[in-house]
Amino acid sequence: MDDCIFCKIAAGEIPAKVVYETDDVIAFEDLNPQAPVHVLVVPKKHHEHILDDVSAEELASVVEAIGEVARAKGLADRGFRVIANTGADAGQTVAHLHFHVLGGTPLGEGLIP
Ligand code: 5GP
Ligand code: ZN
Repeated sequence: MDDCIFCKIAAGEIPAKVVYETDDVIAFEDLNPQAPVHVLVVPKKHHEHILDDVSAEELASVVEAIGEVARAKGLADRGFRVIANTGADAGQTVAHLHFHVLGGTPLGEGLIP
């Protein structure tokens, strides 16, 4: 999609620190990390958010990628958090479906800061 930052990263038109990539999904370091590990897992096909007709195959690719990222970053044994901000109340700023993988420090029990 034109003028979508994450479509451009997925196409290699904007640089990113890529952690994992397949034909369907790309995972890269967040530009403004909120935790010692902060990776974005992004389906390459443009969807605005999780309510936008995301296929089961795409979601399976995302889950697989989250596992690969967690193992690569040493999070698999200690735990981590996955967040998909969806729409205005969640503060979604990039309108291309993405999953934040956060970890590398105790994140606390609360979901809302
Ligand atoms: P949201 O608030 O939409 O859930 O999260 C968007 C995330 O994308 C933010 O954490 C922000 O730091 C990250 N981000 C925005 N633009 C870029 C970019 O050009 N490159 C990378 N690597 N991350 C970005
Ligand atoms: Zn996009």
